[in-house]
Amino acid sequence: MAEHDVTCREVVELVTEFLEGTLALDRRDVFERHIAMCTWCETYLYQMRHTLIVLGRLREDDVPIPVVESLALAFRTEHPGKQSR
Ligand SMILES: [Zn+2]
Repeated sequence: MAEHDVTCREVVELVTEFLEGTLALDRRDVFERHIAMCTWCETYLYQMRHTLIVLGRLREDDVPIPVVESLALAFRTEHPGKQSR
């Protein structure tokens, strides 16, 4: 899966597109997988989501956060205590 992995830096670059729903589907898939494994990026995603809502660029119900939350939860349940890299 290495060739399709995103780095934390790419997550930072893609997070706005992800939250606005303009991220390409294949990128969105790897993005969500990274978020599910990376606590730092998960936190960053939440902060950016909040920021965009405050700025009026997103409505609360536009944001696909529940998908991310369930992914993250599933990962932690399967791999308790395991950190990415
Ligand atoms: Zn990350």
